[in-house]
Amino acid sequence: MFKKILIANRGEIALRIQRACRELGVKSVVVYSEADRDAKYVKLADEAVCIGPAASAQSYLSMPAIIATAEVTDAEAIHPGYGFLSENADFAERVERSGFTFIGPTPESIRMMGDKVSAKQAMIRAGVPCVPGSEGALPEDPKEIIKIARSIGYPVIIKAAGGGGGRGMRVVHTEAALVNAVQMTRTEAGAAFGNPQVYMEKFLENPRHIEIQVLADEHKSAVWLGERDCSMQRRHQKILEEAPAPGIPRRIIEKIGDRCAAACRKMNYRGAGTFEFLYENGEFYFIEMNTRVQVEHPVTELVTGIDIVQMQIKVAAGEKLPFTQRNITMRGHAIECRINAEDPFKFTPSPGRITMWHAPGGPGVRVDSHVYTNYVVPPHYDSMIGKIIVHGDTREQALARMRIALSETVVEGILTNIPLHRELMVDAKFVEGGTNIHYLEGWMSQHKR
Ligand code: ADP
Repeated sequence: MFKKILIANRGEIALRIQRACRELGVKSVVVYSEADRDAKYVKLADEAVCIGPAASAQSYLSMPAIIATAEVTDAEAIHPGYGFLSENADFAERVERSGFTFIGPTPESIRMMGDKVSAKQAMIRAGVPCVPGSEGALPEDPKEIIKIARSIGYPVIIKAAGGGGGRGMRVVHTEAALVNAVQMTRTEAGAAFGNPQVYMEKFLENPRHIEIQVLADEHKSAVWLGERDCSMQRRHQKILEEAPAPGIPRRIIEKIGDRCAAACRKMNYRGAGTFEFLYENGEFYFIEMNTRVQVEHPVTELVTGIDIVQMQIKVAAGEKLPFTQRNITMRGHAIECRINAEDPFKFTPSPGRITMWHAPGGPGVRVDSHVYTNYVVPPHYDSMIGKIIVHGDTREQALARMRIALSETVVEGILTNIPLHRELMVDAKFVEGGTNIHYLEGWMSQHKR
């Protein structure tokens, strides 16, 4: 096992990784920007190094600053968390070339999955079902593009090969709008992701977003840890997640889960990963693979009892997974609400000083957050300030526990989306289970204020 790990991230996930290190008896170094000087995990750190100003480009995205810090602090490995450099294959490569272990998959895996066109091609080869669409990147010739769309059937969605974070996508309903839409998505993708390539998929009208968590080691062993339902989204961004997915027959889930684990073995994948699918009319369609820990990993931890972050560290250290698929059992139901510093209904960011923070507790309640009373939420980063995760024997119990947890939570001084979560937890359709990815936006237009 490593003696010391550098945590190349901020916020709740930096604290989460720090806790995993502590439990494993590993020392950790946190790097922070000037804007995060007062964060809890910085104060609690074994070692903390300021690596630059608030702007991410000069701190959390600065490869030289992070690698130099690993050198001077004698860290052996770097955990990238999520976001920032976590899916940057060049970073993973530079980390390894500098003599450190990157806690994640190989640069080759990251590169292949980071390009959604090559990811889809790899999945087709590995026998994972994909959304029907273009066979690769779209050609230049408008006539060819029109032909491809006709064969798929409208509506279609144009997606950037290098896209992420819900950006770089455009739905097209008619042939008249097609060529222009492809052009616009190309231009945007070139500017935003440095890669103008786009591809086309059938736009599924009422799917759910269901994803499979996997863990793999470098000794050819791979398992899947159940699914998560992340259909509650706004602008393709998840706001709450649950496990298991309500109402989907176990045998269908098991079939797709086994496919994902087999694909990992076939691709020589190592570390944690997530296969994201759209699910419609009993079928799963792969959309992308995330080669890192996800924000919503705790719901899987609560139903399986497996610490995903510790497993990432163990397999990066070369250890074998301590279980096989047969040992993995799921118990009860878990729900996560992402707490964002934003207007609950207009979604405008609301950074600033938290004058009062009171976290919920009680049976089955977990809070992953780095904030505290008097903490100032910096305006420079993602608005998520923490996550409330609950576990119950049944979905009903988990819902009840989440309602209680949300009612106990006090955040003053800034706006948060807690009022939105409180309403969703008593919404009849959500309580019934199985709402699709468009549900929240439809709900919001009916609950205008
Ligand atoms: P990103 O990497 O930006 O998150 P994804 O490919 O994972 O992009 O897609 C994000 C979201 O966009 C999905 O959860 C879904 O809501 C929507 N989406 C993507 N592809 C399709 C599709 N073919 N049909 C319908 N919705 C889609």
